[in-house]
Amino acid sequence: MRENFLSFSLPLVGQEEIDEVIDALKSGWLTAGPKTRQFEQEFRTAFQTPSALALNSCTAGLHVALKALNIGPGDEVITTPMTFAASVNVIEHVGAKPVLVDVEPDTLNIQPDAVQRAITHATKAIIAVHYAGHPVELNALRSIASEYQLHLIEDAAHAVGAEFEGKPIGCGDNLTAFSFYATKNLTTGEGGMLTGSQELLDHARIVSLHGMSREAWSRYAAGGKWAYDIVEPGFKYNMTDIQAAIGLQQLRRFPKMQDRRRQIVEMYNEAFSRHSAFLTPVTRSHVTNAWHLYVLRLRAGELSIGRDQFIQEMTARKIGTSVHFIPIHMHSFYRDKYSYHPDDFPIANAAYQNMLSLPLSPSMSDQDVADVIEAVLDIRSQFGRRRAAA
Ligand SMILES: *Cc1c(COP(=O)(O)O)cnc(C)c1O
Repeated sequence: MRENFLSFSLPLVGQEEIDEVIDALKSGWLTAGPKTRQFEQEFRTAFQTPSALALNSCTAGLHVALKALNIGPGDEVITTPMTFAASVNVIEHVGAKPVLVDVEPDTLNIQPDAVQRAITHATKAIIAVHYAGHPVELNALRSIASEYQLHLIEDAAHAVGAEFEGKPIGCGDNLTAFSFYATKNLTTGEGGMLTGSQELLDHARIVSLHGMSREAWSRYAAGGKWAYDIVEPGFKYNMTDIQAAIGLQQLRRFPKMQDRRRQIVEMYNEAFSRHSAFLTPVTRSHVTNAWHLYVLRLRAGELSIGRDQFIQEMTARKIGTSVHFIPIHMHSFYRDKYSYHPDDFPIANAAYQNMLSLPLSPSMSDQDVADVIEAVLDIRSQFGRRRAAA
């Protein structure tokens, strides 16, 4: 067994990021300034987005998106239970009502048919989450959105670098929020990017910075104007140049980091897909998976232990794991406010009961990957049903 504990998700940060941060610190611009603008430009080029607004988180991006689209009290927003709380909390923040619908059994992404059935006169938007880095069925969701005149907002926290029909997630005109949280595929420690049409982002930029008509750095830069106006009570959600410095170097490192993720996924699939105890993640042929997470699902009845004990056995073998996600409707706030029962979304609930996320990070060595595989297969041979029955 390995000596040290393998973290579930270690960021890959090198000397280049360190040097760029030092450059930012020495430059005199600490908050949003030239490096933030450069990061927006380079992100825009890398992922063919019409425009880009760097923020301090993806949560901020989703909140700003709802505000910029004037979604509020009396409105309903359809989303998935299989997501992190942030995707749904923001709907509560603006005073609108989240309406959850169940997920597809294989990708665990929101079901377009279920979205359509949930539409009412109050529905204003859909928040679609590209779960684990596998894009949602964008064509189906786009046509529902246009038929019913709804806004489609993409939570692309897992989907930097993902593609749908050969086009990068974020290349559309609709608002799309990316996360650069420490565990995400591309990190700035904390951070996010909102993409979409220039027109939508012009409004979002104002909402994201106090509702001010002009940004601080251009006000104080040489030749800049001192005057500004508050056109609405906005938020304080900007990125800093220190974060953008990390992001600029992460962008350069990104293709290699994604290659390494894919290699690790192939090694996992090769090791686990031959065993009936496991359900390995799928990738539909018309998408490129960003592989934010490797979600292994245990097949009911194939092991004598459940998911919780499987995780304990992994921990005992010094392998960090996690669960993505405890479905939204099972959290006490949402359960109590909307009187949800676990089986209201049976596919999400069943998947949750049997899932765990294995370590997946470009910082992992081949030995780390081999250790994870060995631990999983060892638990299978110890607790496999046949052996337990013998
Ligand atoms: C991480 C995550 C977020 C929030 O991202 P932050 O940058 O931490 O705000 C939102 N949605 C999903 C699905 C996430 O995994």
